[in-house]
Amino acid sequence: MSVLDLVRPEILALQPYSSARAEAGQAMVMLNANEAPWPPPGVQPETRGIPLNRYPDPQPRDLIARLAALYAVDPARILVGRGSDEAIDLLVRAFCRPGVDAIALSPPTFGMYAVCAATQGAARIEIPLGADFSIDAKALLDGLERSVKIVFLCSPNNPTGGEIGLAVIERITHALRDRALVIVDEAYIEFADLPSASSLLDAHENLGILRTLSKAWALAGARIGCLIARAEVVSVLRRIMPPYPLPTPSVMAAMAALTAEGMDLTRRRIALVIAERERMAIELARLPGVLEVLPSSANFLCVRFADAALVYRELVANGVIVRDVGRYPRLAGFLRISIGTREENSRLLEVLIRRVVSA
Ligand SMILES: *Cc1c(COP(=O)(O)O)cnc(C)c1O
Repeated sequence: MSVLDLVRPEILALQPYSSARAEAGQAMVMLNANEAPWPPPGVQPETRGIPLNRYPDPQPRDLIARLAALYAVDPARILVGRGSDEAIDLLVRAFCRPGVDAIALSPPTFGMYAVCAATQGAARIEIPLGADFSIDAKALLDGLERSVKIVFLCSPNNPTGGEIGLAVIERITHALRDRALVIVDEAYIEFADLPSASSLLDAHENLGILRTLSKAWALAGARIGCLIARAEVVSVLRRIMPPYPLPTPSVMAAMAALTAEGMDLTRRRIALVIAERERMAIELARLPGVLEVLPSSANFLCVRFADAALVYRELVANGVIVRDVGRYPRLAGFLRISIGTREENSRLLEVLIRRVVSA
């Protein structure tokens, strides 16, 4: 059996939209896409000579080459989208028949998996994380119904910060061969001491990995993320992807970041975030109103407070915004605190020490 057997039959059957850009080749006079023949008005962002009046390359070769080098994978295994969020949506659309198929996830986890499933009319099977917020592989495999087509594993997990070891991912993926796709969301893996699951792709065709430039690469505003999967899965998703998903300025911003110097700076920044995360975990755990700081492999800390609502209000009153994750299952009383600059982190600590602890 091939992973293509898991794809919705109507997706395999459809005739993809053929974009004008894909047909353009090396033409000098481009009258095929109803574009404007002149540049747009106003001062435009730097696009290094690529005119903004033209539709962008659907999957820019240069960008894919740099991402392939960065992630050490074959370029044919990369699909670039508007953030990894777009890949999540495309996966659910391609693999889950509305009203028939399902996704599986382990809450508390990232909210987009459930949103995309609901949008598609796919059911959601929830196998909660274990008592220590780690993935429970046995419970997960035992709990899966036949209808599950995609299992989302988030490592490091948002919002708890815990990671999933490669052996566990491999065990789950192997057990689900011929049955379901396993998608490992590695949005925060740069902050973890953990190898990427992409090394398992050669052995497991039902595996996919999500990576993004939004977190460690400081490009959340550019919306560039990707799916790393078998080439046949990438081709299937390209069939249903909107024709010109990647805005030229975003591609240029990513190209400008993905250089040797960019890599160097990013490496130093990641080290800084990790050092600050460890400092904040210790400092926060010392505060009287703090009940628990979950171990984190990401660029945030998930912290349980004696009075999270009070802490949240005091922080807001002092111009500091954190994320209230109390609505997630088992996270009542928790706030998720992103790691900022050293000054920003110290500011948060200051407010907590001055206002809350003394209250
Ligand atoms: C932030 C985040 C993403 C989304 O990343 P984009 O590439 O910006 O869409 C994906 N997964 C998780 C777990 C995240 O926290």
